Amino acid sequence: MQDATRHYINGQWVTSIDGREVAVENPSTEEKIATITLGGVADADAAVAAAKAAFPAWAATDASDRIAALERLMEVYKSRAADMAQAISFEMGAPIALAKTAQVGAGAGHLKNTIRAAKVFAFERPLGDHAPGDMILYEPVGVCALITPWNWPMNQVMLKLAPALAAGCTVVLKPSELSPLSAILLAEMVDAAGFPPGVFNLVNGDGAGVGAHLTAHPDVDMVSFTGSTRAGVAISKAAADTVKRVSLELGGKGANIIFADADEKAVARGVRHCFNNSGQSCNAPTRMLVERAIYDQAVETARTVAKKTEVGPADIEGRQIGPVVSETQFNKIQYLIKRGIDEQATLIAGGLGRPDGWKEEIFGPVLCISPFDSEEEAIALANDTPYGLTNYVQTTDKSRARRVARRLRSGMVEMNGKFGGAGSPFGGMKHSGNGREGGVWGLEEFLEVKAVSDWE
Ligand code: NAD
Repeated sequence: MQDATRHYINGQWVTSIDGREVAVENPSTEEKIATITLGGVADADAAVAAAKAAFPAWAATDASDRIAALERLMEVYKSRAADMAQAISFEMGAPIALAKTAQVGAGAGHLKNTIRAAKVFAFERPLGDHAPGDMILYEPVGVCALITPWNWPMNQVMLKLAPALAAGCTVVLKPSELSPLSAILLAEMVDAAGFPPGVFNLVNGDGAGVGAHLTAHPDVDMVSFTGSTRAGVAISKAAADTVKRVSLELGGKGANIIFADADEKAVARGVRHCFNNSGQSCNAPTRMLVERAIYDQAVETARTVAKKTEVGPADIEGRQIGPVVSETQFNKIQYLIKRGIDEQATLIAGGLGRPDGWKEEIFGPVLCISPFDSEEEAIALANDTPYGLTNYVQTTDKSRARRVARRLRSGMVEMNGKFGGAGSPFGGMKHSGNGREGGVWGLEEFLEVKAVSDWE
């Protein structure tokens, strides 16, 4: 891999102008595995200038040329999948088996779905038969800052990068300072795929430095952000003065409503889903709501599954869960578990607990289980959180499942363990954000709509 202290700007690996070096740690061993540079204002400015200069020519390309470039990127991504899995596993502690499959696979999947959506997207279309001559043009937004978290690094980067490039935007990527290695590898892949200089730029940095500077930058037209609600709020405010488009994918506190008639695997599946990626998923079903008739049994099942869950270092092949990403994250989880215990939650395994009314995102392998007595109560409990990303419903009664799905205030509802299909929209309501990523919805995020009359 490249010298990780460099940024990728205007098609070149460049030395930082005003950054400072920091170590990247392997969360499994707490050993230093690389040194990166947290860029400064001058680094960010250089990347924005490159993206701005490249925009007119890239925006003017035919969609088929952009799609062809993304198809080349897909080939390179596939050919270096093992390196990517290694980088992700090293930097954020995903067990290597998970890194090879879900982590790397998510990036490939989003790239593929974006290519599929872009191939059939009508970038120019008539308004309708009622208004002959009116044409609607979908044009790229411009220079986009892509700011991403560490928990599913390629998932999140690709959900932004692929549609931005397909739309004709140019980008400056600022990945999480905790997961910079996978992004550096991706920059190598973009370079190998032969995108014109300046179309893709990578500046490593932290939120307060490069992140905040990009967000307020007058030459950045859009910020596409995935991360905490705290940072999403700060970004929205900082972007307001320049009237940028801001697309936010923020935190979650998903409810998993399990009715007494749910399939027999529903509880165990819900616990495992919550613990997947060490609980570090925005859409993790962290609040299990169980109909009282099966509550005691569900608690026993959850205890058994939790006790059987193995925790281990990321480099061992197996189905264990890995470490959480950092000491800061660990301390936050400990604090929240302790608060739960202090608030009279019952611990059923490990350090798990459920304080009454616990609505805060924990972002660790912590599941809270509560009983409910009626469908109405289950819906009220599920909606009683500032978040609205993904909720889950487990029941064999189809009409009830649909009724509940309609009333849940979240961008996604997953029923009976079935994931959303390829290219389905990912995003939230309320404090979970306002963006939709994936498939055609992800592409539209990066497009301006222009209405032109008397076209014919
Ligand atoms: P974070 O908000 O601390 O950081 C995310 C990114 O934003 C990083 O690149 C960081 O450097 C940058 N950043 C932080 N403050 C900033 C600021 N003021 N201005 C500009 N950039 C700033 O989040 P994290 O700890 O990296 O990730 C975990 C969070 O991400 C969780 O809350 C999780 O739910 C959320 N998340 C949401 C989704 C989704 O699609 N809704 C997906 C994954 C993760």
